[in-house]
Amino acid sequence: MKFGGSSISNGEKIKNVSHIVRNYYDNGKNEIVLVVSALSGVTDSLISVAKDLINDFLDKTGAKNNKFYKKDIIDDFIQKTKNRHISAIKDAISDEDIQKSVIDKEEDILQELNEVLLGISYIGELTLRSLDYIMSFGERMSAPIVSASLKSIGINSASYTGGEAGLITDDKFGSARPLSVSYELIKSNIEPFLKEGIPVITGFIGKNKKGIITTLGRDGSDYTASIVGAAIDSDEIWIFTDVDGIMTSDPDLVPDAQMIPVLSYLEAMELSYFGASVIHPRTLEPAMSKNICVRIKNTFNPSKPGTAIVRAFEKSNKVVKAISCIKEVALISVIGASMIGTPGVAAKVFSALAKEDINVIMISQGSSEANISFVVKESQINDGVLALHNEFDLGTLKD
Ligand code: ASP
Ligand code: MG
Repeated sequence: MKFGGSSISNGEKIKNVSHIVRNYYDNGKNEIVLVVSALSGVTDSLISVAKDLINDFLDKTGAKNNKFYKKDIIDDFIQKTKNRHISAIKDAISDEDIQKSVIDKEEDILQELNEVLLGISYIGELTLRSLDYIMSFGERMSAPIVSASLKSIGINSASYTGGEAGLITDDKFGSARPLSVSYELIKSNIEPFLKEGIPVITGFIGKNKKGIITTLGRDGSDYTASIVGAAIDSDEIWIFTDVDGIMTSDPDLVPDAQMIPVLSYLEAMELSYFGASVIHPRTLEPAMSKNICVRIKNTFNPSKPGTAIVRAFEKSNKVVKAISCIKEVALISVIGASMIGTPGVAAKVFSALAKEDINVIMISQGSSEANISFVVKESQINDGVLALHNEFDLGTLKD
């Protein structure tokens, strides 16, 4: 079971999660592994403070005055982060001994974070590798709290970082992929504990072969859950979020959107790549390899069955099962009678775009051959049009 940041954004919600888990655990009749995100907004705040710290700050006289300003920023950030996590602990956990031991652990983690932030502020650069290290603190702080909250309601539990659980990745900081050894390692590290209690694993983070922390990309906790589920051959992988499941369209745009009870892996993948941001797009790969059902459920409405994502493709008499949308895109149409029967026009169009590093999201060409339309990010439209003007020698481009 994976719980996202909005499901554990404060102590009350963490308490709610531990009660949901206790129900399903049923005194050990079901074996459960938890994967958790950071408390909501924490990853964003870590990224933004790290970015702030590599800027130059000027004092009133216009001179660079990095050290003092940066130290203030760090102290302020650490204090706020500490307050947020400590109050979550106090609200989620009533047992004082358990409270104290998790507070001690959080203080050590925060001390390390303080030093890391100081380090990058002195160096003044933020590599993908150091950003991964910094982002990892969100989950490293949340998992011990969720684990302690289970203990405080009588369930044995232990927390693991992704690396401790056995999630070993390649070196692609910021969007790392698990190495295949991870599956055996996770199985041997986690399975024995399942007989004793509930392991709580940090989502999103792993480590490379050298032991350096990596992340799986934003929203990567879903992906962790699926990797762990596949590693231990779980019966199902449940992704708890704050909606009832995958819907026929975005309910903010379409008020009468409906829940979809069952989707195939391929349909769900198409939807997640297409901007229905319910799950991380790679989540389904590990589950698919073992034919495990992935269920999307609502933390705030856990009795609802949610959406089950399975291999079998169920034909719908509605023809279209769901519509999702990507925003901030633009359509470019290349139109002209001279394109008809002229080989190589498409090759020229797309290589001109590729040279300018413009990614094409969707392509269509009419069978008349007199037009090619394609979709690019809105932010790339001017560069795209300019590239085509130059390629086809269409003269000066007006605003
Ligand atoms: N905490 C990470 C993020 O905000 C990973 C996750 O929540 O899945 O992207
Ligand atoms: Mg998410």
